[in-house]
Amino acid sequence: MENRNKIIEVKNLYVTFNTFAGKVHAVRGVSFDLYKGETLAIVGESGSGKSVTSKSIMGILSKNANIERGEILYDNKDLTKLQDKEFSNIRGSEIGMIFQDPMSSLDPVMKIGKQITEVLRIKHKISKEESKAKAIDLMKAVGIPQAEKRYNQYPFQFSGGMRQRIVIAAALASNPDILICDEPTTALDVTIQAQILELIKDIQREKNLSVMFITHDLGVVANVADRIAVMYAGKIVEYGTTEDIFYNPQHPYTWSLLSSMPDLNTSSEDELFVIPGTPPNMLYPPKGDAFAARNRFAMEIDFEEEPPMFKVSDTHYAATWLLHPKAPKVEIPEILKKRINMQTQKEGVLV
Ligand code: ADP
Ligand code: MG
Repeated sequence: MENRNKIIEVKNLYVTFNTFAGKVHAVRGVSFDLYKGETLAIVGESGSGKSVTSKSIMGILSKNANIERGEILYDNKDLTKLQDKEFSNIRGSEIGMIFQDPMSSLDPVMKIGKQITEVLRIKHKISKEESKAKAIDLMKAVGIPQAEKRYNQYPFQFSGGMRQRIVIAAALASNPDILICDEPTTALDVTIQAQILELIKDIQREKNLSVMFITHDLGVVANVADRIAVMYAGKIVEYGTTEDIFYNPQHPYTWSLLSSMPDLNTSSEDELFVIPGTPPNMLYPPKGDAFAARNRFAMEIDFEEEPPMFKVSDTHYAATWLLHPKAPKVEIPEILKKRINMQTQKEGVLV
């Protein structure tokens, strides 16, 4: 990273939900930095706390949520302490967001051109002509054909991929510094998914945006992310550059995620590795390393004591007892070893 300016610092964030069944411990001590101009991916199985983390940054947690501890520093402010009104000024203008389901961020009965520039018109009170010109420019920039004509159409007249482009155009209208993308391509088919990823990458480069890219699919981020944080059961268990995570993974959970990912050499007949068991119930988070029960490399201590973050290199950290100097040496799974060798031989697969 050329520019190491932090734009967001999340420090020791704890988020719980009050439910009839009890307290859900959704996020349990998450810390990370987002740097200016980088794309940080947050990856983990469903339920690991990715969306709760991003919603905490956006200030859009549901009413039964509590930020129990921690800080989210942005522009000299702690976002966890902001009032709703101050938050809504930042949201959608300095920080843009894109979700899995574009329909959830679009108004079905409003013409799409209007939706793209709504933020501008409300916050900057620009004229109708100006906002129309701006909307059409943005529609062209995100690859919507016949933008002038389509300006007056409604969301239902667009395909899923085109709707997601509209949401991206709307998120960019106010020139945000940060774009949070929460599973932006999960609902789309593979070809469209690739196009949307390419679009986000191009925009990120062009505008030097900081992007937080959330996905359950590690395969999606290989070509998009500068850095990757792996989440499990409400915690970040490993983080590093994309190369660190793909070529030198350290946490057995990261090994499992990587092993369950199809790659260029996987044919349709190959059976993919499936991580055994299920993530823990966050009403009762387990002691120790939360992944222990599903980890064939688990040691006694994994069930008892939480591992600290061990430093692997200046860019790479992982919370696994396997990195303790006294831990037995274990070999990474065979499928992964093969894959890493293949990737290293095939230059350019990753970056
Ligand atoms: P994901 O990594 O799939 O985005 P989430 O961040 O949505 O996961 O969820 C993390 C945990 O918080 C899960 O156990 C989920 O069930 C719980 N959770 C999320 N939203 C709520 C809510 N509104 N009420 C109760 N529990 C919730
Ligand atoms: Mg989610």
